[in-house]
This record gives sequence, C-alpha cells and structure tokens, in this order.
Amino acid sequence: MTAPLFDGLPPLGPDDAADERILRVALPVPLDQLFDYRLPARLSASNPSVRPGTRVRIPFAGQLLVGLVVPNDLMLEERDEPRPPLAEIQAVIDQEPVVSESMIRILAEAAREIFAPIGLAVAHALPPGSSPRTARPYALTPRGERTLGHAARAGNALGEQEGRLLAKIAEKPSTLAALSRALPGVRVEKCLGNLMQDGLIERRVQIRSARARIPTDRIVHLAPGIECEEAKTTTLARAASQAALLQKIAEAEHGIATRTLTASDSRVGALLRALAKRGLVVFEERPRLFATETILDGGGEVSLTDDQTDALGPIHDAIKRQVSERFLLHGVTGSGKTEVYLRAIAVVLEAGRQALVLVPEITLTHQIVARVRARFGDQVAVLHSGLKPGERLAQWERLRSRQTAIAVGARSALFAPLDALGLIVIDEEHDGAYKNDEGFRYHAREMAALIAKQAHCPLILGSATPSLETRHSAELGQIRRLSLPRRVGGRPLPAVEIVDLAKEKARNPRGRKMILSKPLRSAIHQALDQGGQTILFLNRRGFSTRIYCFQCGHAERCDDCDVALVYHAADYQLRCHYCDLVRAVPESCNGCGDPETALLGVGTERLEEEVRSVFPTARTMRLDRDVASRRGHTESVLRALKDETVDIVIGTQMVAKGHDFPGVQLVGVVAADLGLHLPDFRAAERTFQLLAQVAGRAGRADRPGRVVVQTFVPDHYALAPLATHDYESFYREEIEHRETLGYPPFAGLTRVVLHAEEIDQVREAAETVARAARSQIPDGARVELLGPAPAPLTKLRGRYRFMLLLKGDDEALLRRVSQAILAASKQLPRTVQTALDARPVNML
Ligand code: ADP
Ligand code: ZN
Repeated sequence: MTAPLFDGLPPLGPDDAADERILRVALPVPLDQLFDYRLPARLSASNPSVRPGTRVRIPFAGQLLVGLVVPNDLMLEERDEPRPPLAEIQAVIDQEPVVSESMIRILAEAAREIFAPIGLAVAHALPPGSSPRTARPYALTPRGERTLGHAARAGNALGEQEGRLLAKIAEKPSTLAALSRALPGVRVEKCLGNLMQDGLIERRVQIRSARARIPTDRIVHLAPGIECEEAKTTTLARAASQAALLQKIAEAEHGIATRTLTASDSRVGALLRALAKRGLVVFEERPRLFATETILDGGGEVSLTDDQTDALGPIHDAIKRQVSERFLLHGVTGSGKTEVYLRAIAVVLEAGRQALVLVPEITLTHQIVARVRARFGDQVAVLHSGLKPGERLAQWERLRSRQTAIAVGARSALFAPLDALGLIVIDEEHDGAYKNDEGFRYHAREMAALIAKQAHCPLILGSATPSLETRHSAELGQIRRLSLPRRVGGRPLPAVEIVDLAKEKARNPRGRKMILSKPLRSAIHQALDQGGQTILFLNRRGFSTRIYCFQCGHAERCDDCDVALVYHAADYQLRCHYCDLVRAVPESCNGCGDPETALLGVGTERLEEEVRSVFPTARTMRLDRDVASRRGHTESVLRALKDETVDIVIGTQMVAKGHDFPGVQLVGVVAADLGLHLPDFRAAERTFQLLAQVAGRAGRADRPGRVVVQTFVPDHYALAPLATHDYESFYREEIEHRETLGYPPFAGLTRVVLHAEEIDQVREAAETVARAARSQIPDGARVELLGPAPAPLTKLRGRYRFMLLLKGDDEALLRRVSQAILAASKQLPRTVQTALDARPVNML
C-alpha cells in the first residue's frame, strides 16, 4: 500500500525534473519496515542517477546508519504502521549500485516468507565492511564521571551492581552484550536502565566507515627484458646474495609477494632495494589473496567413472539450457562427488558464466577449497568470516568485476555479487551450519533455490547422508536424485563393527565404567601395531543434563513428543522441553532396574586420560571446541594427522568434517547413543549423519579402514544401518516416525524463544504470547501449539529462555498464528526479547 504521495513518481534518472526525490531505503534495524527519505537537491545534483542497490547514509533514531536504496515499488504486504515523516538522506555512498535489484527482491521475498525484518535481510547483500552498527555502546556522561570520581557519594547513591557496571563502562564504552559477558551475575539490563534514568550513562553514536580498504601485496617481478642467468654472471658476479634472490624471483612464474620473502629473512628488504636500484626487478601492487591458503598437489583431471558420467549428464544439460533444475547428488564418501562438482564448474566456465560453491564451515573444509583452487587456480575467490573486512572486500570486488568466475564460501557467500550465475553447489547439504541462527534466519538451501530460480541455473545438493527434507523432496519428484553408490576405484567402504555395551557389561560386571570396551581397545592395539592412526570420536554436543543409565543405556523420553527428557537440578525433576511434561526422576532405571542412574557426561578430557593410561606410549592429541580456540591448534592436529606424527586423536564433531587422512586406519565412536538423547526431534537424523561421516574418515587410501561403534542400543534404526552403510533403510524408518508424529517434512514447525533476565517476567511473557496464539487456533484445526516450556538451554548468557512450538500442516493458519505471536510480542516489556524461527534447525 504505497502512500499516495509517492504514486506515479517517474523512474529515477538524470532527467528527473524535481528538485527533490523520494527514495525508499532498507535500514539494518530489526523492524519489519522500509523507510522513505528525501534526497535533497544538493545531493541529487551531484548524484544524478541514484538507483536501487546504492548505499546511502541516513540519520536514524539519533545515529547514522548505512542503508540501501530499494526499488520504489518494493513494499511489505503486511505493513500496518503509518510511514514515518520524511527525513533527509545525508550522503550517497556509491557512484553506482553495489547490489543487484534482483538480489534485493529475492531477499525481500525470503524475509517475508520467514517473518524476518526486511532491512536485516537486505543487509546481508551489502559489500563487506559496510555493515553498519546497530549497537551503540554505553558511555559515561560528565555526570557519570563525576559520580564515579566521588566514590563516597557514589556509594550512597548507587547499588553495588550499578557501581560495578559504572566502573566497567568507565574503562571503555561497551555494548550490552559485552557488559553481560564481562559481569556475570550482574543484572546488566536492569542496572543500565537505572543508570540511564539517573543520567549517569548515555548511548554513544559510533560511525563505522562504509568502506574497508583492500589490502594489497607488493609483488616483485624480474624487470622486462632482464635475463636472470646473464645478470648473475655480469652485474651480480660479486653479489652472491642478490644473485640468489634474483634466481628465486625469476623462478616464480607470477612474481612473489615481498612479504613472503621478508618473512623468512630480514635482510631481503635491503637486497630487494639493491636489485631494484640496478634495474633488475620491478614492483607491482596486487590485491592480497586468501591468507591461510593451502597448496594442493594433484589438480589433474581424471577420466570419470560410469556412475560419475551418468550423474554429470543431466547437470551438464541443465547448465547448458540454463534451467533452474535442482539435483540431489547422493553418494557415499569417496564416491567422487567433488569430481562431479569440478566437472560441472568447468562446463559453467566454458559457457562464460560464474559458479558458486557452498561449504558448511570453511575453516574445517580446506580440502574442497584446495581442490577447486588446484583445478581452477586464480579464478577462485574464497569468502569466509575469518577474513578481515578488507580481504573480504577484495574477494567481493574480484567477483563483482568478473575478474574471477568461481566463489567458494560458507553460507554468506550466497549473497556474493554474481551477475552471471550458472551453477550453485551445496556440499554436505545436510549440515546444520547452513542455517543462519540470528536476525535473518535463512537456510542456505532454501535461499539457494530462490537464487538459482531467478538466475535460471541448476542447484546441486551433495551429500552422503542427505537431510530428510531433501531426500523426501527427491521422493516427491521435486528434486532429481543422482546417485553414486560406490567408492571410486572399487575401494571398499570401511568395515563397521557395532559393539553392544550391554553385552560387554554383562561379560565383565565388575569392570569400571565402560569408556573403552574390550573390542575397541584391541582394535586400537592392532592399529598401533600396524602403524595406523586412530580417531576416537566423542559426540559431546549439548550438555550433560539427561538421565542416562550406564548399565543399559536407557534414557527417559517424552511419549508424546519422542524427545529426551532433561534433568533439572533445581527442582529435581525431568522435563520435556517441547510440551512441558514434568516427571519425577525415577528411583531406579526404567530400562533395567539398576539403582544407579547417572547424569550423562563423559568429557573428551576424561577420555583422553583413559586413553593415555591404557596406551601410555602412543602419541595422543585432542581436538574439541575448547582447545580449538587456541590459535593454530586445529591446524597442528590436522597437520599431525596428515604427516602421521600422531597415533591417536580424540575429538568431537570437529574431526568428522570433510578431511581426508590416508593414515587413519581406525575410527572409534565412543558413545554413539549420546546424540540420540538430545531433546531434538532430529536427534536420530543427526546421529546417523554424524556417525556415517565419521565412519567415512577411515581407510580412504589403499589400507582398508575399520570402524568400531560403541552403543547400548545396537539395534536402533539410526545405528544398525551404519554397519552396512545403508542410508536408505535409515531413511525409511525415520520418515515414518516423522509422519506419525507430525514433524517436518510432513508439517511446518515454528519455534519461538523468549528470553529475559528475570525468569518470572519471561515465563509470564511466554504465557501471554501463547494465549494470543491459542486465540487464533480454532477447535479441530490442523495446527497445535506446544508449550510454553523452558528451552532446553534454559539459561544462556545470563538470560532465561522459554520456548513455544507451533506445529501443523495448515500453512495459512501457521502464518496467521505466527503473525499473532509477533504482534503480541511487540506489546511485551522491552526487557523481554522474542525470536521467531519459521524453519528451526537448532532446537536447543
Ligand atoms: P567425495 O567428494 O564423494 O567424497 P571425491 O570426489 O573426493 O569423493 O573422490 C574420492 C577420491 O577419488 C579422491 O581422491 C578423488 O581424487 C578420487 N577420484 C574421484 N573421481 C575419480 C575418477 N573418476 N578416477 C579416479 N579417481 C577419482
Ligand atoms: Zn513432550
């Protein structure tokens, strides 16, 4: 509903007669709204053609934001608020659009679909470095400084918590999030409110530059016309160091970055200057490449197997015909999926178009990046969050200017400026990392489908263990399934052996708590004897507050929701975090009657201790999130695996990701059941996917691999099929469960999380929102509301969390109820925050 004022405005252009123009702008604020601003005459004169996709600087609620001009006809169906009065645009940042109009429209559509604020969605497509800050740090006012100075008086006026907070802010202006982290136990939000009211603190406006500098490298080359050998024997006959350096420079085909030369030898600077003075070398500034790049051996082409040829055929066709067909490339690890991607990319390049390859987490997936690079060299831009804004911008510019034709990156690479897109590949499409869990909560798979459709290009979803959603779509014929059922070169899949811990226990009743069973121990011995490496995998995701029996592996579950119950120490009860069922903690195990039920929680550290004591001479390393945060640790573990300088690596899911280590002979899964008992309806799917992927790590080279899986439930449908690498049998069973219980893909599921510092406040708010939702659900409707219940992660960063689930197959009603929830949450106290996720992946 465009306000009449803007109707009939001529398209923007240099011949626009009006002195002032009205531009519609998306701002990176969590409001479901677009804003109209005046472009003052002084700016329109110098920027005659401000078009959609151009960045502008705009005053908004006391701060300056970077917004994006969007098409004037772009609007929100569901807008009900009156348009704010028009303010003036303060500056136009770009000479020409930096985001395509079609990308803006796709993002707007996606945002509407999942109820995300449109401005936050559009902000994803902005060039790196323009990310304007919505957070304004808290800073002391002059009065606050005085108060802090007069400590005695402050003691009278301020509470203890307020005092600590004020002191912290005095050190450095900080955001709410930073303060909450720094001062655990302090009710930060409430105290900030008090301090604001007393005029002791204020929120500062921080302006970040909208342009990051592109870092460059200084590249040294042989000067034109210089012959290295000749120079060495003449000019440099008496300068051996210079001659050696010149030789090195001459050998590098594309020149060498001076920083790589000076890094290894501090005298190089002087030598280079000397060479330049003699006119033997010249320098050039070039945008810097991906910093942590690995150089890969063997980018050579192989001839495709028959399976690969069959899979590539339809993809090749779709690229050529420019149709947006979707493919599921379903193949076991080592079946040659990556080679199919590479061939498809080659077809795209031949057609003069661009390709986008998404990987779940780029730091863990050097492998595929390295292979794409090995094949296509300089034509690849790598985008990931580990890059500094300037480096990111450099990559972004190379894509936009079409200097490079291939983008590889994590999910955010979807929004890279690729105007001639010919193919999108999503590798390991089942991975949870493809879901964005904040602000604009998109799923890369769905976003990619929209983008591919718009670009008329095919989309390949690759996996050995596809998500239930994707596999089911293939069954419905919405996605074409291409399968690679065998490993390349007839290499066998690893032998998977499932160890029944209950039986082991019975055989050895006096044994200590079962961490390493006898079969696993002897398998490790064998690997050590044969000089092979072992990976011991412990799924430690989540938290250890589930009741679990170490005798039989039984865990308590909710009958209605079929998810694990969570133990709450505060009231000594078990609780379903979906429907809020409460149950007493059983006296003894409901599975086997053993009196000693226990809380779950074997940590990787504990496992490491055990391994060291059983195998004292083995070289052991550990890789999990805790140690991974140490700089360089992940790389050093991965290198040790590759160089075979470690015998046993103990790790969490980090070791499961797509690495390829020929020396790994044994993979041991220490507690396969742990993941099954997360309060998540996808627990079985996750477990199967993770373990299949872990198993795929073993024996990829010529040595046969071996996998040992320890479990109390060897017959569980998510574990038993691992032995035969039988995804299909797992899928059949799981899809039936989903249908029976009404979970995706058979129904929509919306998750609403409310959080606040005060538990009573958030509980009350959750109930208010639930009432608003229920009032929209007529009797007999095919939508149900579960909860409110405490979220599985009940307290996070000092805030209590409650959760509502909305579930059902009446799409229209789901949308109406979601809208009612959002409307109700707008009426809540400002200290309560609500997050609605229309397609949740993370259920904790
Ligand atoms: P996936 O991506 O399915 O795990 P890859 O593409 O990595 O499989 O292939 C596994 C291994 O087989 C790699 O080392 C790869 O170089 C090799 N490979 C792939 N296709 C062929 C082929 N047609 N001929 C020979 N080797 C191949
Ligand atoms: Zn329940």
